Formats: sequence, structure tokens, C-alpha cells
Amino acid sequence: MESKAADGGDKTAGNEAVPSHFIRNIVSEDLKQGKNGGRVHTRFPPEPNGYLHIGHAKSICLNFGLAAEFGGMCNLRFDDTNPSKEDIEYVESIKEDVRWLGFDWGDREFYASDYFAQLYDFAIQLIQSGKAFVCDLNAEQMREYRGTLTEPGKNSPFRDRSIDENLDLFRRMRAGEFPDGSRTLRAKIDMASPNINMRDPVMYRVLRASHHRTGDAWCIYPTYDFAHGQSDSIEGITHSICTLEFEDHRPLYDWFLDQLSIHHPQQIEFARLNITHTVLSKRKLLQLVQQEYVDGWDDPRMPTLAGFRRRGYTPEAIRNFCERIGVAKRNSVVDIAMLEHCLREDLNKRAPRVMAVLRPIKVVLENYPEGQIEELDAVNNPEDPAMGTRKIPFSRVFYIEQDDFREEPPKGFFRLSPGKEVRLRYAYIIKCVGVDKDPVTGAIQELRCTYDPETKSGSSRSGRKVKATIHWVSAAHAVEAEVRLYEHLFTKEDPEDVPERSDWLANINPNSLERLTSCRIEPYLVDAKPGSRYQFERLGYFCVDSEESPPTKLVFNRSVSLRDMWAKKEKTVGDSRRNRS
Ligand code: ATP
Ligand code: MG
Repeated sequence: MESKAADGGDKTAGNEAVPSHFIRNIVSEDLKQGKNGGRVHTRFPPEPNGYLHIGHAKSICLNFGLAAEFGGMCNLRFDDTNPSKEDIEYVESIKEDVRWLGFDWGDREFYASDYFAQLYDFAIQLIQSGKAFVCDLNAEQMREYRGTLTEPGKNSPFRDRSIDENLDLFRRMRAGEFPDGSRTLRAKIDMASPNINMRDPVMYRVLRASHHRTGDAWCIYPTYDFAHGQSDSIEGITHSICTLEFEDHRPLYDWFLDQLSIHHPQQIEFARLNITHTVLSKRKLLQLVQQEYVDGWDDPRMPTLAGFRRRGYTPEAIRNFCERIGVAKRNSVVDIAMLEHCLREDLNKRAPRVMAVLRPIKVVLENYPEGQIEELDAVNNPEDPAMGTRKIPFSRVFYIEQDDFREEPPKGFFRLSPGKEVRLRYAYIIKCVGVDKDPVTGAIQELRCTYDPETKSGSSRSGRKVKATIHWVSAAHAVEAEVRLYEHLFTKEDPEDVPERSDWLANINPNSLERLTSCRIEPYLVDAKPGSRYQFERLGYFCVDSEESPPTKLVFNRSVSLRDMWAKKEKTVGDSRRNRS
């Protein structure tokens, strides 16, 4: 043990200095150079077309985190340019989730739709300088004219309309004179550009859809590509941080800003987060919800922040995870075990430890006086003495876990079996002296045991050795509860590892949810509040469900089991490193 401490090999990541990354370095260098007048201003720009997921958490931690670190500001901006997919429900959920993660945008809650008038003026400005034109090609024709990655596109036959005609047509688009999809406003750039984003991209489309904020005020809407960079510019963003797929759009954003001669934020791309056994795309998550594979956006199996919250994840665990995965330029997949590890590490320190029996079997202590109740002392969390102790009632009849008894124990099974002894946590050593069975089915109904009064935990003879300690709950005092156990939502590490990528739903895990409806919990938890978290000894971390706990019934979600695959993996890597050196 000492040698490990000496070489520092056991240091947990929590104690290590925050690892730096290239975006932090850029921001810090910009500050040193006095760029942007010493300002750091970032934004988190979700489209309100779904709930936030753990990938968004990475972006939130990065944007809000950098602003906080460098004394800057971070805006919350809804990129709401696509009314047909967006909704106020999503806006509200996004705000709740960002707050829950621990970040605050002050009074800087913005919407791209707030800029619709300004964006329209920008479009007029580009038409006036001959940089945009109204095009009558329909979507299919436009695709034909666009060319491919290897072939240049062709100019639209409408490209050379006069400025006056373009102004007139665009104003009439706005006035609602043309049907949906019949005309677009396009930037006039270069149909032969090797970057397809530069081939006269669409800036505005005709779309009669009610917007959740602007109602029916508009029947033309800017494309994301035309709205995004200008919105950043209007807000005076200094560092516009986005995911890698926007790298190819950067020349287009630069082009718009240059043509308009307005403030030019610096766009920096990073790799999006991918996690094993998980899909992170709002479109796919919406499909899971709509097709009822899960029970809503906040189903505890969902990788949404609402789902993680209901499952029992803490914001600290998620922030710590986002810190540890780092920020890189190359796409990669993070093992979900690492996220689970971050949660265990957090809850280990602060979740009270209690006893709960998930699959109960009754035990009667034949030599324990009827009607006697002892109040035993239990430690709430050995990691934190300040959390104190509590009393647990012990009596003649209690429950243990079915798994902790075997009538015919296999080799190496050290828990309870006929004629064998086991210790009850905080209580006595007991011995199994009989098994009562249903005379018809032969199913075990209860176990008959005796206890050794000399072996009470904490007493002088309590040190007598038995090979196992098991948990239990006094029958007369137990609280009944439902417990839900979860497995990964997808069986495969990469849910899209299927011959046809569209078949990803075939990888749904049919056993991702198991409901245990007759669990017995120690009475300490009778008033447990929704959202409160506990360790059930030997079983994992559990959280009181916040949606389905009417006062008469407690429902617990297992947040994570105790077995830590990630620590094991890390240790193996660490050990092999040590062995090599
Ligand atoms: P999805 O593909 O899941 O729908 P999106 O990128 O369309 O995601 P937005 O609402 O546009 O979702 O994203 C808001 C911000 O969050 C963007 O800056 C985006 O780059 C970032 N983001 C989205 N998904 C991830 C991810 N998996 N990892 C890191 N950042 C992400
Ligand atoms: Mg998007």
C-alpha cells in the first residue's frame, strides 16, 4: 500500500489539476494578445426541437465554464429558425436543464427569432450589393444544379436577375404572395466551389408555419446557416464554439460577416461527444419517445439531462465527467462506464447508506423472543462521519435477499444455506436450521433460523468470523416500495452497428427495465423525498422517482450498480503500465 502512495499511482483524477485543452489555450492566448478588448463572450445555442442530452452538457460546460474561468459572459440563445419542429415545451425544458447543471445566463436569454427583422434587413443589404438573388428553382431542381463532391454545380437560370427585381420579389415573398417552397433567396457566391456550402446556399425559404414566439408574423424564415453567424455577431460573441460538422460551414459564415461588414466572432470547432450503448441525436431520441420505446423524454434510460436527473445523477457527476473527457479536435467514443464511475465517485461520498431487500424471502428467528425489538446502531456513511448514525429496528421476523440463500450451495457460496452461518449487518450471526416449503408447489416460503445472542455487532465476541455479511430489513417495520432496475437502452456498444444504419432500433435492449414491486426498505426511508439519493448496501445507488411517487407508494430508480467496470479498466491499464516500468 505504502509504495503505491509513494509513487502517486493511486491519485484520483479529482485531485489532479484541471487538464487544459486547445480551446482554453486559444482563449487564454487571445486574452494575452488583448484581442476583443479583453472580452470573453460565449454562448450556448440550442435549437428548441428536443430535450438536452449529455452531449449538450459537454457544450454547456465548455461555453459557460470558459466564460466563468476568464471572467466573461455566456448567453443562452435559442436557435429557433425552424418553426415546424420547435416548441415552447422544449424551451422550458432547456432552461430547467441548464440551471440544474449549475449554470446561469443572467438576463441574457436570447432567441434568433428576436433578430428576424434585423436578419431580413441584412438580406436586403446583400441583395442591394448584388450578393443575393431570388431563385425560382424548386428543391429537386436545386439539387440537380448543385453538383456533387466531385463535379461543380451549375448557375441557376435566375442568378442574374436585376437588383430591383430581386428586391421586389423578396419583398413579395415576405408579403406572402408566393406559395411555400416556390421561391428562395440565395447567396450569390460560387457554384464551382469545392465546398458545397458555398454553392449559392439558400438564405430564406417561404414557409407558412406558426412560430412559437413570432406567431404568424412571418411566412419566410432564415435558414440556420444564414441566422447562426449573424446572431453570434449581433450578440458580440467573441468565441463561437461549435461541433466539428460546422467546420465546412465556417467559410460561409465568414463570407456573410465580411459582406455585411459586421462584428466577426471567431468560430472554433470541437469533437462532439459520443457514448457507448447510447444514441445522441435529438431526431433519434424523439423517435424513441414518439414510438414509445421509452416513457417520455425524462425516462431514466434516456441520455437526456431530464432522464439522468430522474435516474439519480447529480449535476456534479455530469460536470466532472465533462471535465474529464476533455475537448479534442478528433471524434471518438467515450465508454459509458466512465460516466457511471463519475456518479459512483460522487454518491459514495454523500449518499446515506441504508438497507433494502429487493427480492425478499422471510426469515424467522426461532430463539428470538416474540415481541422483542432492538434498536441497532448503523453508520450513515463511513466516508463522512459528519453524516452521523441512525437506529435500525431488529426483530424476530425479517427479510433477506432471495439470492443470499441457496438450499444447495454451489462451491464457493458463503452466504446462507441449511446448517450454515452468516452475519446480519449491524446485528447477529444467524444459522439456518430449516426451510419451510409450500406443500403443493415446493416453493420456499420462509427460512427458519437461530441467532447467537453473543455475537451482536460491536460486542466483545462480535469478532467471531463468518465468511459473509448480508443485509436484511425487519418485517414488521419495513416500508414497501417498488424498485426499477435498468440496463443500457441498446445492447450493442455502437447502436448503429447494423447493416442498414436506419435499423438502429433493432438494437434496443428488450430488458432495459425491470420492475420489482414488493421490495422492503428500512423504515428510515419512509418519508424519503422525491429526488433523494441513497446507497442500498450491496446493491447500488438509488433515487426516489420524482414522477411516480404518490405519498402512498415509494418508487426508486437504480442510478447505478456498485460494481465499477471503469475503475477496473483504469486499474488494469494502470497496473500494466506499472508492470512495464
Ligand atoms: P443533435 O444532433 O443531437 O440534434 P444538435 O447539434 O442539432 O444536436 P443543437 O440544439 O443545435 O443540437 O445543439 C446546441 C449546441 O450543443 C451546439 O453548439 C452543438 O454543437 C452542441 N452539441 C450538440 N450535440 C453535441 C454533442 N454530442 N457533443 C457536444 N456538443 C454537442
Ligand atoms: Mg442542430
